[in-house]
Amino acid sequence: MQVVAFIGLGNMGGPMALNLQKAGFQVQAFDLNKDALAAVAADGAIAAGSAKAAVQGADFVISMLPAGKHVIGLYQDVRSDIKAGALVLDCSTIDAQSARQVGALLGDAGIAFVDAPVSGGVGGAKAGTLTFIVGGSAENFQRANDVLSAMGKNLFHAGEVGAGQIAKICNNMLLSVLMVGTSEALQLGVDNGLDPKVLSEIMLKSSGRNWTLELYNPCPDVQPNVPSSNNYQGGFMVDLMAKDLGLASECAQQSQSSTPMGALARNLYVQHQRQGNGKLDFSSIFRFFSKK
Ligand code: NAD
Repeated sequence: MQVVAFIGLGNMGGPMALNLQKAGFQVQAFDLNKDALAAVAADGAIAAGSAKAAVQGADFVISMLPAGKHVIGLYQDVRSDIKAGALVLDCSTIDAQSARQVGALLGDAGIAFVDAPVSGGVGGAKAGTLTFIVGGSAENFQRANDVLSAMGKNLFHAGEVGAGQIAKICNNMLLSVLMVGTSEALQLGVDNGLDPKVLSEIMLKSSGRNWTLELYNPCPDVQPNVPSSNNYQGGFMVDLMAKDLGLASECAQQSQSSTPMGALARNLYVQHQRQGNGKLDFSSIFRFFSKK
């Protein structure tokens, strides 16, 4: 049986670790939070007493942590405990520079590394339908296939180490721009007497069509089973979108890229977050424009 060390068992990591366990991998898990660790241990994972203990003898090491500093700190701490020939996959959303730094520090110890950030949220993590966007060599992308397939449905190879993180923030920056644009267009229609359902149907068949209109309408009660029709509960939090837009902004500064729409979306999301909406779904940016 192949052994996977899984570090970081939060909203995403907990269900991902359980899907690995269900797929027949032996999971050696660790989280600083004892409750999170106990929850996966109850489903058959081995609860390790430390990250160093979790990586012992593992064929794969997966991390799902909040930010770059946590990921760098973890691998500085455990790199000498990871067995030779193991493959490390960091699935957190972090800046590409930190991902490359981790790749280099593991590479110096002869350990293979890919960054593999995800799209699909907590629902996708639970259902095992995540999309993984992988940065690393073609050989390591191939090696990652079985573990990633146990947790997800779509696997993409974006390029070398760090490329997964870049592709992920490009996508989320575009998503935020689409969400803001769709929200302001819908509210403009409503302010001028249109029914948002009718306007959504018209735009869905016209050139303004986009993912948010199709599957994630931000205006309450236009679509069933989306966060906007459930008081913006569940889904992808404003806090996380603001974090990803911060990463996109840092990335743009480093490459001297012009991202005016992304910068504006970031400012709107940060303001929305500061008004106490950080835990709401990111489609709640609609409220920024609506009068209610
Ligand atoms: P979370 O805060 O729920 O979980 C993070 C976990 O890491 C916590 O349980 C925490 O105790 C643990 N942790 C922190 N430092 C640690 C350390 N040094 N050693 C061991 N455990 C440690 O966060 P999440 O929602 O699961 O997100 C994790 C990552 O996935 C983030 O980078 C996030 O941006 C990304 N992401 C989240 C979503 C989402 O919808 N939640 C979607 C896509 C990507």
